[in-house]
Amino acid sequence: MRVMALDIGGTSIKAGVVVNGRLERLRETPTPAARGGEAVLRLVEVLAASEAGFDRIGVSTAGQVDPETGVILFANENLPGYTGMRVRERLEARFGVPAAVENDVNAAAIGEMQFGAARGERDFLCLTYGTGIGGAVVIGGTLYHGSGCSAGEFGHLLTHPDGLPCGCGGRGCYESYAAVSALVREASRLDPLLSSGRAVFARRAEPAVQAVIDAWAREISYGLVSLIHCFNPACVVLGGGIMQEPWLAARLPELVRPQLMPAYRAVRLRPAALGNAAGLLGAAWLAASRK
Ligand SMILES: [Zn+2]
Repeated sequence: MRVMALDIGGTSIKAGVVVNGRLERLRETPTPAARGGEAVLRLVEVLAASEAGFDRIGVSTAGQVDPETGVILFANENLPGYTGMRVRERLEARFGVPAAVENDVNAAAIGEMQFGAARGERDFLCLTYGTGIGGAVVIGGTLYHGSGCSAGEFGHLLTHPDGLPCGCGGRGCYESYAAVSALVREASRLDPLLSSGRAVFARRAEPAVQAVIDAWAREISYGLVSLIHCFNPACVVLGGGIMQEPWLAARLPELVRPQLMPAYRAVRLRPAALGNAAGLLGAAWLAASRK
């Protein structure tokens, strides 16, 4: 089966064809986000139309998605006018093949389960660390969506009561302290040149920089400890480019394990294995498995 796979993000749209779990012909195009949801969907149609002969369409997208209807329930200011777009209906009508639409972190979790770091796992969590923190819950090999298709907003766990204000309207959310943007915020107080996660890790030999990284890694552990106690997962997949830093991959289990009750300590923390392809592969797999 050939699946047309698309990954719609705030800055770029990735498109490729997935055949037997292999991603081919990957292309990346800037998202016309400022021109509104209709422009985004029209570009998606153009990208799909440029590939011939596919049997399904799998879409991984930013925003909260109803996977039954393929409607975007909510998208933030990165994609203005995208909320309410009937992505699945549009693509099925235009191309005459079944389509599956899923939230990007959920799709990435499925990609990692089928082809990556969570292969063979049935009960696991997936978190992605970037500007914010995204989450996905897989229970018994199936995504858990919650009553309103909004489960897994782990970035808004409350880890600091009365702490920093967050874009969600609350205060003290996990992502305000543990996202890569939080690391950069603290590190750039030492030196404005420390303006990305990569730049910060490149200067880890400096004690002041290492101290900022240590404090940030502890913040990551607080959210993970709460989640592991809630879900008792076999495995937690940690996504986002920063999680490929070997120091962090080694350090997080050392920080998390002593904070867990003994019954939970068998959990494995694993860096994501598929990088940017996870969402495309997961969306393609979901589309291919549709009846
Ligand atoms: Zn929040």
